[in-house]
Amino acid sequence: MLTDPHAWAEAEGYLRRAQSILAITHVSPDGDAIGSLLGFTHGMRGLGKLVTPACQDQAHPRFDYLKGVRDIRQSGEGEFDLIVSLDSSDLARLGSVFVPAQHGHLPIVVLDHHITNLSFGTVNVVEPSASSTAEVFFTLLRRMDVPITPDIANALLTGVITDTLAFRTSNTTPDTLAVAMELMRCGGNLQEVTRQALVMRSFDSLRLLGAGLVNARVEGRLAYATLGRKLRKELGVKEERGDAGLVGMLITAYEVDVAAVFVELPNGDIEIGLRAQPGFDVSQVALELGGGGHPAAAGCTLPGPMRDAVNRVLPRLKQVIREA
Ligand code: 5GP
Ligand code: MN
Repeated sequence: MLTDPHAWAEAEGYLRRAQSILAITHVSPDGDAIGSLLGFTHGMRGLGKLVTPACQDQAHPRFDYLKGVRDIRQSGEGEFDLIVSLDSSDLARLGSVFVPAQHGHLPIVVLDHHITNLSFGTVNVVEPSASSTAEVFFTLLRRMDVPITPDIANALLTGVITDTLAFRTSNTTPDTLAVAMELMRCGGNLQEVTRQALVMRSFDSLRLLGAGLVNARVEGRLAYATLGRKLRKELGVKEERGDAGLVGMLITAYEVDVAAVFVELPNGDIEIGLRAQPGFDVSQVALELGGGGHPAAAGCTLPGPMRDAVNRVLPRLKQVIREA
């Protein structure tokens, strides 16, 4: 546990005193990023706070069932007295929304669950044992006696369900199940959240996944694949980011201990997703390369071209396998 015992009370104090909060989640937002951001927004508005939710990149349309998702702004313009960072392990991952000249003087409350969190806030509530940032924020809401509405419940359930792959990953604890139960009791729709956030996908993404699987390689107990812009163009895939779930598929092979997928972004950078079987830890490699994550799921972004990023990362992953 990284959180010092006073951090929860200090975070609560900052939230109670704040009037206008800029809530920011990480670039390329996943379900926990969007879910914890919207859960926070609705929860704090319930306490009468002005809250502006922001993220550099737009939420994927799969999250359109969440109330307020289209009101997330892509800039941090405005007058605020507090910044709250959700699901982000470092300041750079807040992307262009956090502008040092504009926001640098404001206190920052960090709510997160990444073991690689750099504790960049004024107050850091970071719980690596929590399934998700949504679970961390749920605990804070309960502590603050904020009523949990169905909108809050569905947002937080989205974070729990996506970060645990519907309670299947090793970060699922009895507490996680208890939180999910409470969220259902507060009006969260577990089946609908699971279907929309986790199961349904575009036909395009199925084709991208298929092409990625066909092109994937195995070297020893390491599997990897690249998704270049050229491949996306050839397949006519409209979505410009994301791995279509490829790295999560590669790690399901019996023959594989560590998996990596390299995605070429529109600006030429390479976004790298890493996965590991229990007993292997990819979070430290990601951290060394300027990213972060969890032992079993981590990532980072490196400059292109593709070949350079691949050559930089593969030897380190082979070392992880050798030294486990
Ligand atoms: P995914 O492969 O699903 O995109 O990411 C897996 C995990 O690694 C998530 O917890 C995510 O937050 C983290 N992660 C992925 N990319 C980056 C990155 O560029 N920087 C940091 N700090 N974390 C990342
Ligand atoms: Mn998360």
